[in-house]
Amino acid sequence: MTASVNTTLWHKIEALLPGVSRPARYIGAEGNIIRKHPDPDMVRWLLIFPDTYEVGLPNLGLQILYELLNDQPCAQAERAYAPWPDMAASLRAHGLPLFSVDRHEPATAFDLLGFTFPSELLFPNLLECLDLAGLALRATDRRPSDPIVLAGGHALFNPEPIAAFVDAVVLGDGEEVTLEVNETVRAWKGSLSPSGPQSEEKTALLRLLAGIEGVYIPSLYDVSYAEDGRVTRVFPVDQAAPARVEKRTIADLGDVPYPRQPLVPVTEVVHDRLNVELFRGCTRGCRFCQAGMITRPVRERPPEQVRQMIRDGLSTSGYEDVSLLSLSSADYSDIDPLLAGVMEDNAQDKVSISLPSLRVDAFTVGIAAKVATVKKTGLTFAPEAGTWRLRRVINKLITEDDLFAAVESAYQVGWKRMKLYFMIGLPTETEEDVQGIATLAKKVLEIGRKYSKGASCTVSVGGFVPKAHTPFHWYGQDTPDVLRQKIDLLKTQLRGTKAKLSWHDPAATEAEGILSRGDRRLADVIEQVWRSGGVFQEWGEYFSLDLWLEAMTACGLHSEFYVRRERGEHEVFPWEHIRAGLEQEFLWNDWQEALQAGVVEDCRWTPCYDCGVCTDYGLENMVGSLQPPAGGSQGTGQALPVPTPVSLLPRPAVKKQVRTAAG
Ligand code: SF4
Repeated sequence: MTASVNTTLWHKIEALLPGVSRPARYIGAEGNIIRKHPDPDMVRWLLIFPDTYEVGLPNLGLQILYELLNDQPCAQAERAYAPWPDMAASLRAHGLPLFSVDRHEPATAFDLLGFTFPSELLFPNLLECLDLAGLALRATDRRPSDPIVLAGGHALFNPEPIAAFVDAVVLGDGEEVTLEVNETVRAWKGSLSPSGPQSEEKTALLRLLAGIEGVYIPSLYDVSYAEDGRVTRVFPVDQAAPARVEKRTIADLGDVPYPRQPLVPVTEVVHDRLNVELFRGCTRGCRFCQAGMITRPVRERPPEQVRQMIRDGLSTSGYEDVSLLSLSSADYSDIDPLLAGVMEDNAQDKVSISLPSLRVDAFTVGIAAKVATVKKTGLTFAPEAGTWRLRRVINKLITEDDLFAAVESAYQVGWKRMKLYFMIGLPTETEEDVQGIATLAKKVLEIGRKYSKGASCTVSVGGFVPKAHTPFHWYGQDTPDVLRQKIDLLKTQLRGTKAKLSWHDPAATEAEGILSRGDRRLADVIEQVWRSGGVFQEWGEYFSLDLWLEAMTACGLHSEFYVRRERGEHEVFPWEHIRAGLEQEFLWNDWQEALQAGVVEDCRWTPCYDCGVCTDYGLENMVGSLQPPAGGSQGTGQALPVPTPVSLLPRPAVKKQVRTAAG
């Protein structure tokens, strides 16, 4: 049954809209919106994306959970996004709360507030949303009757900086675990007296949630520190809490074909198109890449299911653009037949298909060209480092020949604008590696000019931030000044060429570094940053490193300790009790290999080297073919000079599951 909006609150919010920027952010009314009538027997979820509506609405994870929960008879889900500062000020001035955009219900009308964190700089916005909701910031200060505050997302594979603010953290794939949380909360609600939960009952619920695989309850753990500030132990203080919390992994994505009916916004948003997921996980082993490490193993959606999701999505949304999402879309083992099938399905319509994460090789450009028959605006490649030596260190095994062949094919078939992504501040990086970025860019332009006078190349560089659960989490990050010197070197090297240089602010890289490997003591820092007005820290107009550094000093902490310090082999990390499946021994060995520029190949196509994920979780890479996709296992189409590192020699191979094209 479709339920009406909360007109009392909506009219008050509506009155504020003429005075704020982009009022369409707050009205809801999207195509495929679900307005389910809440029933006392249902568990009510408010799914919150702590950034603007434009960034949050297309978030696939949130859309999946929104539809999945609303499909359940015992659940009801609505959405909220962080109000921009002008709207937040207006809400406060009028005594109005954070609200859902679906039915304009106040946040406290829900049983659970579920936050999604793709990045760490969004942490102060958690406090902004809690405060706007009228809730105490710290979990211990909230009343038993207040909503349960849950959070998930890639940034929470080190959840410790926000441990004080949340009741629970969900690790890994959200679909199954969310339903289990829903069922647990439903049963708990049903057991309460009419006067609502008391403190012991709330604690009992948290203990029950701690028993669900993939759920971490921070209040059931404590941390001890050495005199020099290092963590010495993270340990459970309650019998209900496991010593280590394992991430949740869905073995077969074929079981969860969501979203079927994607939300269609009424205003402009980023990635405004039909987004369909091809697969999760990536085993290419890029050592800087937290997303690749924490989402292992590879699990492909059956091709027929992808086709059906595209058919359903297009027919219910009216979109004409489809984006096939994953960490490296051209690695989907049935990519060629899948694209042929999708094009056949849409032969009568003007549907354009894009593959946003391209591998760097001519084969990939070939398939991109096949689907981009109309628009050939720009192509982006990510070699990540300027020299082959450094690309071996980071295990991004793209040769110069790969890059130049890819670029040549792209210019040949009509693309004119190339964008190249690089990181600076990588382990073992030298001046020669930084100069190598400019050398590659100049060569790319030279190739382009053979085909078009208007050929252009943009070089985009970002400072490297070591992330938890990667082989680089032992590494000490570059200072903002060193990063600026590297950017200056690139400016000099590219002066007088037609290559354009853009860069990520090194100050923001520093703040991200503090949070990425931070511990529980950073809660005070985040709170102080927020109290000093530090919201929307991913946005240039609001970001301030000074706010972070002043807060660190006020809390007796120092950024050098968190960001610059190279960790030893036996460092106890703040996320010691959080398991993404990767064994610390594997990560350490891979770090040592990196320092020697040793490489490791993709375990989809080579014997398993036992990183820990499949063997510990009883999983396996699930791909449609045991052969590497065309273009070569590393996208080169040629044999690579890649010696097998001694410490990564294969252990007993895990059987790789083969799925037929029919799924
Ligand atoms: S356990 Fe083996 S097959 Fe699975 S992701 Fe790790 S290395 Fe690859």
